[in-house]
Amino acid sequence: MHQGHIARKRFGQNFLTDKAVIYQIISAIAPKPGENIVEIGPGLGALTVPLQAACGHLQVVEIDRDLIARLKETWSPAQITINEGDALKFDFGSLPAPLRVVGNLPYNISTPLLFHLASFSGHVQDMTFMLQKEVVDRMVAEPDSAEYGRLSVMLQYRFNMVSLFDVPPTAFKPAPKVTSAIVSMQPKAASECACRDEALFAKVVTAAFGQRRKTLRNTLRDYVSDADFVALEINPQARGETLSLQDYVHIADYLAGRKA
Ligand code: SAM
Repeated sequence: MHQGHIARKRFGQNFLTDKAVIYQIISAIAPKPGENIVEIGPGLGALTVPLQAACGHLQVVEIDRDLIARLKETWSPAQITINEGDALKFDFGSLPAPLRVVGNLPYNISTPLLFHLASFSGHVQDMTFMLQKEVVDRMVAEPDSAEYGRLSVMLQYRFNMVSLFDVPPTAFKPAPKVTSAIVSMQPKAASECACRDEALFAKVVTAAFGQRRKTLRNTLRDYVSDADFVALEINPQARGETLSLQDYVHIADYLAGRKA
C-alpha cells in the first residue's frame, strides 16, 4: 500500500512507520467495538488499519485525492466511510455522537484545525492527536510560562488536556524536522465552561496576548478602564501571560454584565 505515493508537503504528509509508536498510540486511544470514531488524515493507513480492526467501522476525513483513491481500493464502505475534503471545513457535528476524534494531524494547519474542532466539543467524547510537541506544550501550558498563550487559554476553557508522550522524527517517513507529541483532550462539562459571552471572552483573550510583554492596561484598553481593573481586582500593570483561565472568564463575565 505504501508504494508509489510521494509525500505532499502542502498537506503536511509525514507517514508513521514505527510499529511500536503506532501500537502506543492505539493503546492510548483504546478503541472499542461499536464506538463512533473519526480519523482525520488517514493517509496510507498507519492508524486506520488497527482502528478499524478494533471498532469495526470508522469514519475518515482526507483531502488528498490520490490517497482517497487508494483508500477506496483498499476498504469497503462497511469498513470505513470516506469523507472527502478539508477537515477545516468539515461538519463534525454531522457524525454520530458521542464522537471520538483521532489523528496524526497535518502540522501546517494544526492551530486553525484545533480551533475548528473545539467548536464541536459538545458533540465529542474525547480527542487524541499527534501534533508538533511545541504545539502540545502550548496547549497544556500554565500561566507564567513561555508557552502559555491564546491557544492554552482558549483550549483549556473547553478541554482537560494531557500530553501523553513524545515521538521522535525517526518514527515517520519522511521524517519531520521537529519532535512530535500525543495529546489527549477531554471536553469539560458544559457547567465548567459557562462564560456569559464566549465571543467577548475570545476577543479579550486575543487582545491580551496580541502584544506580548505589554501590560494589560495597554492590550485591553478597548475593553477595560482603570476603574474596571479596580473593580476586577486585577493589576493593570500585569501582563496577559500572568492571568489564569479563571481570570479571563472573570473579566469577560464582568464586561458582559456591564453591557447587559
Ligand atoms: N495518518 C497517517 C499516518 O499517521 O501515517 C497520515 C498522517 S499525515 C501527518 C497527515 C494526513 O492528513 C495526510 O494524509 C494528509 O493528506 C491529510 N490532510 C492534510 N490536510 C488535510 C485537510 N485539510 N483535511 C483533511 N486531511 C488533510
